[in-house]
Amino acid sequence: MIDPFGRPITYLRVSVTDRCDLRCVYCMAEDMTFLPKRELLTLEELDCLSAAFIRLGTTKIRITGGEPLVRRDINLLFRSLGARLGSGLNELTVTTNGTQLAKHAEGLYAAGVRRINVSLDSLDPGRFTQLTRLGKIEQTLDGIFAAKAAGLAIKINAVAMKGVNEDEFDAMIAWCGEHGFDLCLIETMPMGEISEDRSDQYLPLSIVRGRLRKTWTLEDTDYRTGGPARYFDVKETGRRIGFITPMTHNFCESCNRVRLTCTGTLYMCLGQDDSAEFRPLLRAGASDAELDDAIRAAIARKPKGHDFIIDRRHDKASVGRHMSVTGG
Ligand code: SAM
Ligand code: SF4
Repeated sequence: MIDPFGRPITYLRVSVTDRCDLRCVYCMAEDMTFLPKRELLTLEELDCLSAAFIRLGTTKIRITGGEPLVRRDINLLFRSLGARLGSGLNELTVTTNGTQLAKHAEGLYAAGVRRINVSLDSLDPGRFTQLTRLGKIEQTLDGIFAAKAAGLAIKINAVAMKGVNEDEFDAMIAWCGEHGFDLCLIETMPMGEISEDRSDQYLPLSIVRGRLRKTWTLEDTDYRTGGPARYFDVKETGRRIGFITPMTHNFCESCNRVRLTCTGTLYMCLGQDDSAEFRPLLRAGASDAELDDAIRAAIARKPKGHDFIIDRRHDKASVGRHMSVTGG
């Protein structure tokens, strides 16, 4: 699949639920209304659609959400997708908040998952609860260490927020170094209405990187994971640190991904509203050829990039849907 701008589309992110057991302040409002279950694709439908993407050249699938590990029987989807590893699919992975990892870690490894991303914005128990509104840090840490014990490589994702967790990045680099995890810092993106004002929280990672260099030796590396992060080796810890900067640096030129929501809507860009609906096709019993044609037609509409920067000036969510819909 090559899009109109010559980019090979090899990476599919699948959001398997819009629900979550946390309510991170930058991601969700406190009183979210979730979708009725009948609107969700079944696990079989998600597998069938993923298989169509693999047929057309998708080599990497990331399961995300909402919180993917709160979806009932999600291990069955990992197993069916895992069985496709080696026949077109090269990597199956997951982004999770870690709360359910203790239960799922071994099953994920058994299904063929080898690397996972866990979101953790603070190591301070009180601050963690404040940020997630519902979370207890012990549960997430137990999950992370269960995943490590199961043999999964771990990358910690932290959203960088001005005046909130910016004093913790040194400690997080050290902690990740101690436990053998990579770390990735992410700029907040203006997606979905939340109770707080996001422009107050926005912290350019160019500033953070400058500050970190006072304590750590960040060495250039061409390590890539197929994602938008720019990585450095942290000489003192031997681990990597990545920076995802959708606001200060436009990474759209190398975009290789599309995003499928739990209702079967395909978004060709995280920061744009154009989409394609697959649930009606699936429920009408579409043939493989019909699914393939619909996917190709959607890829042909993939836009050049997002407009987060322009919209930030107007101080509003540039995309109405929450990150938990498209899965980040
Ligand atoms: N619940 C899982 C988790 O938290 O890892 C997976 C879904 S979550 C939407 C995926 C990632 O998006 C998380 O790392 C989260 O921190 C990030 N995220 C959510 N809202 C964001 C926003 N407005 N700006 C930047 N990152 C955001
Ligand atoms: Fe849930 Fe992840 Fe959003 Fe936090 S970032 S509310 S864990 S979906």
